[in-house]
Amino acid sequence: MSDDWFEETLYPGIHSRMRITEQLFQGDSELQKLNLFENERFGRVLTLDGVVQTTEKDEFIYHEMLTHVPLLAHGQARRVMVVGGGDGGMIEEALKHRSVEHVTLVEIDAGVIEFSKKYLGSICGEAFDDPRTNIVIADGLVHAETTADRFDVIIVDSTDPIGPGEALFSDRFYRACHRCLAPGGILVTQNGVPFMQPEELAKSVAAMRGLFSDAYCYTAAVPTYVGGCMAFGWATENETLRHTDLPTLQSRFDAAGIDTRYYTPAVHQAAFALPRYIGDLIA
Ligand code: SAM
Repeated sequence: MSDDWFEETLYPGIHSRMRITEQLFQGDSELQKLNLFENERFGRVLTLDGVVQTTEKDEFIYHEMLTHVPLLAHGQARRVMVVGGGDGGMIEEALKHRSVEHVTLVEIDAGVIEFSKKYLGSICGEAFDDPRTNIVIADGLVHAETTADRFDVIIVDSTDPIGPGEALFSDRFYRACHRCLAPGGILVTQNGVPFMQPEELAKSVAAMRGLFSDAYCYTAAVPTYVGGCMAFGWATENETLRHTDLPTLQSRFDAAGIDTRYYTPAVHQAAFALPRYIGDLIA
């Protein structure tokens, strides 16, 4: 058995390791260090600049919860923008909704898309080539500030707030997202693991609260994001959407006809019931 290990050192004081059973790719894109390896528990693991981005075995949790929650709460989303998401997993999940007519993917690093097409087909499927997919290679902040498009749901599937991802955790970016959301639209964000990155979530929701009439978060436990449940930012001008009732969610989910492995309408509702320590962070 290999004795090579990948070690993530994202958090001071705690490192997490995964055995590398096969080193598949290691190299630099124009912007980031890409690393792909096989692990006996998580399958293929993608890291960027030394931080785990997604794994074959648990990507379904993260991608289902960042797509089906806003799309089924909205109920009639046609146009979606994904910012980041270069591994293709988010657009692949969003495109399962037949009601979605258009998905714009705004990815700053074309190398991640090319790489994911080649090595992560189990995650991205044919999503990049779906006729509804529009790929924009740009900084998500610049695109959100300049696009003439309007979106019913914006999903921020970014790296952590280091390097190119930092701009996607700024007030300026949330203001730009507010600008290009259609009336009644929903913004959801990858907002880290609150137990490990409490200030990140608190700062994001506080910034959203200054722009949207409803700013909150919801959670899911994603095994490879070490440190407990992960938080997803939620922001919208339509305060009723967060409280969409179970029968409505169930009928929309049934009508969508999507097979899931984590998302259910009951899990959707429960995800907004926050543990006290997380509720206090966004109070
Ligand atoms: N699931 C992962 C997580 O939670 O950390 C994110 C996966 S996805 C690979 C993250 C993507 O965000 C990367 O492809 C990266 O290139 C992209 N990205 C980082 N900063 C960006 C920016 N300012 N604009 C657009 N894309 C960005």
